[in-house]
Amino acid sequence: MNWETVIGLEVHAELSTSSKIFCGCSTAFGGEPNTRVCPVCAGFPGTLPKLNRAVVEYAVLVGLALNCEITRQCKFDRKNYFYPDLPKAYQVSQLYAPICRNGRLDVRADGEEKSIGIREIHMEEDAGKLIHDARSGKTFMDFNRCGVPLIEIVTHPDLRTAAQVIAYLEKLRETLLYLGVCDCKMQEGSLRADVNLSVRQAGSPPGTRTEMKNLNSFRAIARAIDYETKRQTEILREGGSVLQETRRWDDEKGFSYGMRSKENAPDYRYFPEPDLLPVEIDDAWLNALEKRLPELAHQKRERYVKDCGVSEKEAVIITAHKNVSDLFETLSELSGSPVESAHLVTGEIMRLLNQNNILPEELSPDARGLAFLVRLVSEGKINRNAYKETVEAVFVRGADPEKYIAENNLMMLADDEEAAVAVAAAVAAVLAENPGAKADYRAGKEKAFGFLMGQVMKKLGGSGNPDTARKSLKAALGE
Ligand code: ZN
Ligand code: MN
Repeated sequence: MNWETVIGLEVHAELSTSSKIFCGCSTAFGGEPNTRVCPVCAGFPGTLPKLNRAVVEYAVLVGLALNCEITRQCKFDRKNYFYPDLPKAYQVSQLYAPICRNGRLDVRADGEEKSIGIREIHMEEDAGKLIHDARSGKTFMDFNRCGVPLIEIVTHPDLRTAAQVIAYLEKLRETLLYLGVCDCKMQEGSLRADVNLSVRQAGSPPGTRTEMKNLNSFRAIARAIDYETKRQTEILREGGSVLQETRRWDDEKGFSYGMRSKENAPDYRYFPEPDLLPVEIDDAWLNALEKRLPELAHQKRERYVKDCGVSEKEAVIITAHKNVSDLFETLSELSGSPVESAHLVTGEIMRLLNQNNILPEELSPDARGLAFLVRLVSEGKINRNAYKETVEAVFVRGADPEKYIAENNLMMLADDEEAAVAVAAAVAAVLAENPGAKADYRAGKEKAFGFLMGQVMKKLGGSGNPDTARKSLKAALGE
């Protein structure tokens, strides 16, 4: 039988406004518990919320970037439920008139283009955090996160595979980062994905779905999807039925377990929020926001290839993260050499990020120092090996590039008489020490030249100019 997986996503993104959605408290991550709270976000009776204008603007920017219709008069609703991390016992959210509807995001997965429908984007407030202390058996409550603004981006059930889900999330993250509305740090919970998944026989109506909540890495999401697909398929194959429930994924143990039966909207007794007026988004406001839309990743990719002479492959790597493309643009501007800057960013910088376990969102190198090196290497003042070595010293240890080059004697010898003498001496010494390789080369073994060249460069230390050395070696070998 032909089983098909049907997946819809709900992504919560914490907006990087400086204050909360309905009060002036700070949204900064962490902090001493319960110090970033006030009577409004701590849910004291009798307090009144006041909507943060920036939250509406960020939500509209995301809606525009995701090709949504913007609701000109949107409203807030109360979603009622009791849980200890929610001191108000309701969440202010949007059910009946969310701010954005009917969008789409085009993604590429498994070699295929696919358009993923966005059902809606709504604004809401985040809840606090519970800290379960295993030692004392007690639970502590931290309300600092209460009232941090969120947008929830809900797709239609258009996704079919884990690869499509990851492609969608990557593109969504890229978009939010380029818009500058969310820092997308999954490890800090600023981007959280809930996966709704059901299995059916191809062509049949959708089966019963389960929801997996708060998966906090792309890898965990892909594994959870594979596990849940298998679990549901097995149940259905044996003639059983899937329970509608919320499940928690344990990434360490590699399995999920039922948490509670899944609620439907009526369970929350939604009603219009009486303390907030509808939000009017008029033409002037919308036009001003349209003008604020920044250049997005796919537009940058096109420009890098067309105007900067960067290869398509490199442009993809550079724009995969906003911080990386920011670094590329700064380096190009300061060094005047976009092509060399692209090589540096996609080569050495990527290698050093991986090697040192640095996430692109943590990238903050000395761009001025790196641009200085890009200039030196493109002007032929340091050789490639010295360049790589100095880039690493600047990137990993924050070394001063000029000092580092001077101290390690890495500047290439100028193309003067003194240099020519040094190169000729090195060539003569290498040929004298390696008569075998010399004979091999003369007998037509091209490889021997590379070996001899390597020996010459080694003798010259970091300051050898490879072009001069190559010429001198060829001359000495009688060409
Ligand atoms: Zn507050
Ligand atoms: Mn939500």
